[in-house]
Amino acid sequence: MPVFDHREFDGHEQVVFGHDSASGLKAIIAIHDTTRGPALGGCRMWPYANEDDALTDALRLARGMTYKSALADLPFGGGKSVILGDPRTLKSEALFLAMGRFVDSLGGRYVVAEDVGISVEDVEIMARVTRHVAGTRASGGGDPSPATAYGVFMGIRAAVAHKLGRDSLEGVHVAIQGLGHVGTYLCRRLADAGARLTVSDINADAVARARAEFSAAAVDPGDIIDVQSDVFAPCALGAVIDDQTIPRLRARIVAGSANNQLAEPRHGAALASRGVLYAPDYVINAGGVINISHEGPGYDEGQAFAHVARIYNTLAEIFDASERQHVPTSEAADRLARARLKRPNPSTTATAAA
Ligand code: NAD
Repeated sequence: MPVFDHREFDGHEQVVFGHDSASGLKAIIAIHDTTRGPALGGCRMWPYANEDDALTDALRLARGMTYKSALADLPFGGGKSVILGDPRTLKSEALFLAMGRFVDSLGGRYVVAEDVGISVEDVEIMARVTRHVAGTRASGGGDPSPATAYGVFMGIRAAVAHKLGRDSLEGVHVAIQGLGHVGTYLCRRLADAGARLTVSDINADAVARARAEFSAAAVDPGDIIDVQSDVFAPCALGAVIDDQTIPRLRARIVAGSANNQLAEPRHGAALASRGVLYAPDYVINAGGVINISHEGPGYDEGQAFAHVARIYNTLAEIFDASERQHVPTSEAADRLARARLKRPNPSTTATAAA
């Protein structure tokens, strides 16, 4: 399996494979870039079909974290880890202790947090053997979802201001895909701001709650993309923007929390050519990681959320740059992130990785 010649290899600083036969741990840690600080990124546990899929995910997600932290002006680099295996059957205390030791072996170059398939409790087991963890209850910030949802809310406001020329969300129609942790907090903020909501989820109870609590309309999961709305907010799966869904999209803005919303990079250009304003996922969903950067004994939610609110300004800058440079917003965001990588001393002070 090639690493340096891998299609997702992008000059990553370090890629490490870890194994522990007693617990069955098979894991990869990918560190993309530490120019701005230690590589922060979640640990994903997934039953990958093969090792190449796992490496692909680790390399791609690690680079995404570098860009996310740079654009959020955080003193972190980008990294990611993956554990190969089914989280429903392979999880054990021994597995997460072994993963914690694996993280610790990198001496703080990589800071682990939760991600798909990994809970705060799992990271807390790792924390018994390494201090290079973030996003635990002990570290102060706790569940990142409210912060993520607030960032998405501010991002939707920025997109609506840019595309529709409106400062208020009163009467703006938002179609939300996914009513999990982030989707539900987002619904509450949008409803409080007077937005009109249409929601969908594969979980019928979540839909019933949103209908009752936010007076939301509901559609079947397969129909949310067709809703005639102002904003489509993907808050469930990745790769929802592809050759099949783009022609069906009725919204003028795509702005939601899901990671990797574009099935392929070229879909950013496809959205732009149809006049759809796309808020790049790793910019708009950075609220959780911004919150993590404020963790520590003196955690101040007001300060953390004020930092999250700056997602509005970053997106406004990206939307303007996209128009000036005649490139899709996804490309404008990548360019801005690369420029910020040359500015390694952010003003914020990290405590999580200290
Ligand atoms: P979650 O698992 O709590 O919620 C996901 C929701 O999507 C669930 O309610 C699930 O039933 C629903 N869903 C699954 N398939 C669906 C479908 N086909 N149609 C409609 N709904 C469907 O996850 P979350 O923490 O709310 O995160 C949502 C997204 O945002 C994920 O892509 C995640 O990677 C991303 N994200 C989350 C955070 C965070 O702080 N939680 C931060 C950054 C990015």
